[in-house]
Order: sequence, then C-alpha cells, then structure tokens
Amino acid sequence: MFVSDLHHFLEMPDDAPGPAVRMAEHLTAVVRAATAGPAGLAWVSALGCGRRPGRKRCRGRMVVFRADLPAPIEWRCDSCGDEGVISGWEGSYADLRRPRGGGSRSTKPEVRVSDEVMVVLRDLRLLGTDCERMVFAARADPDGADPDRPGAFLDVDAEDLDELIGCVAAEANHEDDRRRQKRLDGAFSALSEALGDLDGS
Ligand SMILES: [Zn+2]
Repeated sequence: MFVSDLHHFLEMPDDAPGPAVRMAEHLTAVVRAATAGPAGLAWVSALGCGRRPGRKRCRGRMVVFRADLPAPIEWRCDSCGDEGVISGWEGSYADLRRPRGGGSRSTKPEVRVSDEVMVVLRDLRLLGTDCERMVFAARADPDGADPDRPGAFLDVDAEDLDELIGCVAAEANHEDDRRRQKRLDGAFSALSEALGDLDGS
C-alpha cells in the first residue's frame, strides 16, 4: 500500500529523478479521475497501470474511490493489485470537483474512444476545467471487446464533444513537434467521426 501526500508531488523540481516524476504524474491523474467522477463508490477509470511486473506491462486499470466527505482517495490496479491512498489533494490543481458538489454519473451518451486518443486528451495543455473533468471521468471499457484496441467511454453530448474537438484543433495548430501534431491530428479525426455518429443517432 503506497501512502502519499499529494503536496509532496505537486511541484517537482526540474532535476527530479524519472521515477519520482512518473509517480507524480500517476498520483495527479488518479486525483483528477477520482474528483471528476462520482463519489461514494469505487469505479474503474480509463487510467492504465503502467507498472511492469516481471518486465511485462500491466494492462490493468485504476479503480478509484473517493468518499463523499473529504478523505484520502483510494486507488488500486484491477490486475496486479498495486494500491495506495492519497491525502492532501483538496484544493490542488488536480482537484476537479464541481464547485456546487454533485458528481454523480451523468446521463449523457457514452462515446467509446481508443486508449491512444485518451492519452492525447489527458495530455492537452489548453484544456479548460470542464473539458478536463470530462476527460478524467472516462470509464474503462468493461467488456474490452477487442483486447488489441483497448479503450474507454466518455460521457459526453454533441456540445461537449465539439468543445473537446476545439481544444484538440487549437493545440494541433500551435504544435511545432511533428510527432505530437500527428497524434493530435489522429485524435481530431477519431473524435470528429464520433461526433458524426452521435449527431446521426
Ligand atoms: Zn497493474
């Protein structure tokens, strides 16, 4: 059980060692997911595990739990059993709770996106809080219909999706790194296709 205080991971110095930086990324992503999604129940987020037990990448997903009252956030991998608790997350930039409370699952349509697109979305730098909440509230695809193309479900309507596509397009326009731009373009196409399906249904 990895017990952590998020305060120690929020401002990493530039020369912080790689494992510490990756742990900070993992913990802030878990807090974003746990605060973007519903409270009071454990749910399987779209976040991957990233550990390499026996040098094979763990394909598990992060199960997150946040109590209704502010308390440490609990997380565990649904495959390798890696687990931990995070305190000190309230009021940090990773805290995506809605100002007026709430946080129950929305009844919006679910849109399936691939893990590659999810990685691009989580990495967007120009994402507003509402969009960030949509992205981190994504649920793992429970059936894993195609194990070679793992994905997740976003709960979004056409308007939300349009906003996300706008964020991706804006960032693609400002990107100088061609590899990152290609990934952004791929996400743009996938989301535009999903929007077409949503509008057509
Ligand atoms: Zn794992």
